[in-house]
Amino acid sequence: MKNIFCVDIGGSKLICGVLTPQGEIIETTRAEYSKDYTIDTITNLIFEGYQKLKGHDFCACGVAVPGLCDYESGKWLYSPFSGLGDIPIADIISNMTGLPTFADNDVNISAMAERYFGACRETDDFLWITVSNGIGGGLYLGGDIYRGQGLSAGEIGHFIVEENGRKCGCGNCGCLEAHASGASIAAIYDERASKNLAAKEIAELARGGDKTALAVWQEAGAYIGKAVAYAVNLLNINTIVLGGGAAEAFDLLEPSVTKSLARNLFIKANPDVKIVHSIPGRYAALMGCAALVINNQKEKDI
Ligand SMILES: [Zn+2]
Repeated sequence: MKNIFCVDIGGSKLICGVLTPQGEIIETTRAEYSKDYTIDTITNLIFEGYQKLKGHDFCACGVAVPGLCDYESGKWLYSPFSGLGDIPIADIISNMTGLPTFADNDVNISAMAERYFGACRETDDFLWITVSNGIGGGLYLGGDIYRGQGLSAGEIGHFIVEENGRKCGCGNCGCLEAHASGASIAAIYDERASKNLAAKEIAELARGGDKTALAVWQEAGAYIGKAVAYAVNLLNINTIVLGGGAAEAFDLLEPSVTKSLARNLFIKANPDVKIVHSIPGRYAALMGCAALVINNQKEKDI
């Protein structure tokens, strides 16, 4: 199998990459844009990325999009960042490059990266959680992505973990996303310490002995553990993968996730639950684009 052209469309950046079928990253290009981007912004940057990388021999293209995606038609249905919708992104890239192209939601795609190249190669049932600006979940059940009736399965970020808690972007209060996402960690630290810092900087402070910073991370971990326990009690899965930018502070989150999980879990039914850090890490969505192509290869001749 030849190399795979991979396109990770983020909320504010676009990464194009050349990946082998084994998930190795050979070369990447990266571009940033403002949050009010248009579809022309995206297609122009993909075209530029393809022009730079097209010297490589590609067999197909995989695309990760934020928001809702119909993986069968490759249509990007809705983006929560820009409000863009109804974009036949797979067809657009296929016409541009001549490559068979597949698209799916970025969180599902990240879970695929873990399944093909990461911590879940031997695991048929697991939950992949993106802890980033928001919180999302990708669910593998019986060795396949479980998408649900409206393609929205895995929305663990909107589990209510605190009655009358913080306001969430979805309109509810007390959602996991409102208490434990990277953006929430930054907001909570700012409220307590009057310092407007990014989650990554707050993690450095916590490691350096800042008690307020450490408490904010520990509380976020406790909420994640609570939500994970609810998911495990329902699904009886034994592996939970934490990925996304804020999960780079896995060392700060893991102790309180584990403690809270033990507190909230029906332990007799779920004695062997493991919380692990994503192996593809920050490249999960990009590597998942290669996994998406391989996943489709089973069904289509490419
Ligand atoms: Zn919510």
